[in-house]
Amino acid sequence: MSQTQKSPVGTGPICKPENSPADYTIFDIEREAKAVMEAEYGPLDFMLIVDGKIHRFHVPGDRKGSDNGWYIFYHDGVPSGGFGDWKTGVHINWCAKQKLSYYEAEAQRLKVAEAKRQREQEQAERQSKAALNARDMWGRAHPAKSDHDYLKRKAIKPYFIRQQQDILIIPLIDIERKLVNVQRIWSDGTKRFLAGGRITGCFCQFGNIGPEVKIIICEGFATAATIREATGDTVLAAMNAGNLLPVARAIRKKYPAAEIIVAGDDDRRTEGNPGRTKANESALAVNGLVTFPEFCRPDCGCSDFNDVRCCRNSGGSR
Ligand SMILES: [Zn+2]
Repeated sequence: MSQTQKSPVGTGPICKPENSPADYTIFDIEREAKAVMEAEYGPLDFMLIVDGKIHRFHVPGDRKGSDNGWYIFYHDGVPSGGFGDWKTGVHINWCAKQKLSYYEAEAQRLKVAEAKRQREQEQAERQSKAALNARDMWGRAHPAKSDHDYLKRKAIKPYFIRQQQDILIIPLIDIERKLVNVQRIWSDGTKRFLAGGRITGCFCQFGNIGPEVKIIICEGFATAATIREATGDTVLAAMNAGNLLPVARAIRKKYPAAEIIVAGDDDRRTEGNPGRTKANESALAVNGLVTFPEFCRPDCGCSDFNDVRCCRNSGGSR
């Protein structure tokens, strides 16, 4: 079929809309899809592969060597696809055409479902690889020494954690008590999880969980150790504010009768106070209670329970 025909009203040639999908070459898709990705992530220094398979990429600003980004683009049918990253959960779908016919929309739904399946499979593979890595690392590490710089600075005991050279290894388990990830803490306080490992809904556990026990959920390992020492209760470190809710939900689901107390950080100098906000949200969602640190002075640098204890012990010099 010819691209143009004479206009019946003499206004000029009638042709397909500019950039209409049928005219898309694989290079057009690469260019356009990449522009959409760059609008989200900034300049990307690789060629997109448009082959209906999931590919990983390095997200600018992430740690060197990590590949938390993913994308998948299709050339067949209506050019489309999606991209995002496993770290922040960003997920954006892209389609070359705004309005789809019924059949195109049907085909599109299948593609989206297939992309989802590939994405989930890829993520499951990343997670099980990280879990194997975590078990290996845990198995080779030794019990942590109480004179480790981080433990000394935080004035906490090593409890059950381990150490490999000068790196502390904090175990993260899922609700079924399987080791799924580790957090490594260096002497200078740098903290890292294993790339691709599970965090959501997983935690570091102090004490035992029984069906009718009291469970305190907080953010970091040092905070959990401090609370454990002060109360003797079961304490779970969710590792960050965003994971308080998934952990609280997992506990509520498995232990319907448990008394859940969320011991939040009070990020009083951070806009929106994420620690306080997330703790309140999480407790509310599982019919639990909250508690926050009581500060030594209105102007001290403390935001969590461990800070407060260290601050008091040092006479409020923090
Ligand atoms: Zn203080």
